[in-house]
Amino acid sequence: MTARHDPNCIFCKIVAGQIPSRKVYEDDDLLAFHDIAPWAPQHVLVIPKEHIESLYDTTPEQHQALLGRMLALAPVLMKQLGVTGGFRVLVNNGPDGRQEVPHLHLHAMGGPRPWAKG
Ligand code: C5P
Repeated sequence: MTARHDPNCIFCKIVAGQIPSRKVYEDDDLLAFHDIAPWAPQHVLVIPKEHIESLYDTTPEQHQALLGRMLALAPVLMKQLGVTGGFRVLVNNGPDGRQEVPHLHLHAMGGPRPWAKG
């Protein structure tokens, strides 16, 4: 179990293995898995294992390295999944930012267009 874990959070349950996911990457701090409702041919979510609700709950002093690693993982995973023609990254924050799951996550989406959204 990680330092900060919300037992009611669906992504914390994925981190804890209580809900299955199609993992593509895992280390001590991060987990990445295929989105269950992909918008693009390849659509993965990169999340911190620690329960952080959104970017509002981060500070440059405490989270710069973690956020940098989340972003840096995106091209690695896209390449591993065969995405060479381009991809998008997206982080939704809060209700007005269209965040549906209140556990910080970075969407990485790629593959040949057209996509379901955008
Ligand atoms: O950024 P936002 O919060 O809107 O996106 C949440 C994403 O989490 C959605 O794309 C949804 O398909 C995904 N999801 C998932 N596995 C779950 C629950 C949600 O991949 N068990």
